[in-house]
Amino acid sequence: MARYTDPSCRLCRREGMKLYLKGERCYTDKCAIAKRQYAPGQHGQRRKKPSEYGLQLREKQKAKRIYGVLEKQFKNYFELAERKKGITGENLLQILESRLDNTVYRMGLATSRKEGRQLVLHGHFTVNGKKVDIPSYLVSEGEVIAVKEGSKKSEKFKEILEATAGRIAPEWLEVDIENMTGKVVALPTKEDIDIPIEDHLIVELYSK
Ligand code: SF4
Repeated sequence: MARYTDPSCRLCRREGMKLYLKGERCYTDKCAIAKRQYAPGQHGQRRKKPSEYGLQLREKQKAKRIYGVLEKQFKNYFELAERKKGITGENLLQILESRLDNTVYRMGLATSRKEGRQLVLHGHFTVNGKKVDIPSYLVSEGEVIAVKEGSKKSEKFKEILEATAGRIAPEWLEVDIENMTGKVVALPTKEDIDIPIEDHLIVELYSK
């Protein structure tokens, strides 16, 4: 039997949960995690009780993988979260969720965060009418994100809208999918994030 070796899906299997890294495939029965709920590799089926440090590390890796953020940037986000008022872990989730690549994905204007990143990099989006091609741009309350006029009729966005039809945007975004625009009505909170991330474990890890 063929082995499923897609690198993105291996990351999900490593974390033991769907990280939604492959766009629409993640919502179908082709999803690898539905077929194999154990970690990849020769020893993937061995069960070993993880240490406290192991659990904290896995949680950080999971968050990094979901949002496609590298170590250094993730640490910077953590430091930013610490400086903000409120609970550090929840601030961290809010920062990650406010990235522009994630925002366009949440709006249904990309099938995955990875695709959102590519589309932003290629200059397909505006924020308050100005082109923004930085995937890590953090959106603010009141900002309006839109597909650039010249891109709205492209085959790419037609395909994306077909693929994401029926997807419900989170409450922090007011989306007008017909016009391919959305407004940030409030910054996202932990409750808005549909993937369980135990932020306190990440805070404990960085507090060592
Ligand atoms: Fe692969 Fe997506 Fe399923 Fe993860 S959620 S295993 S990326 S298909």
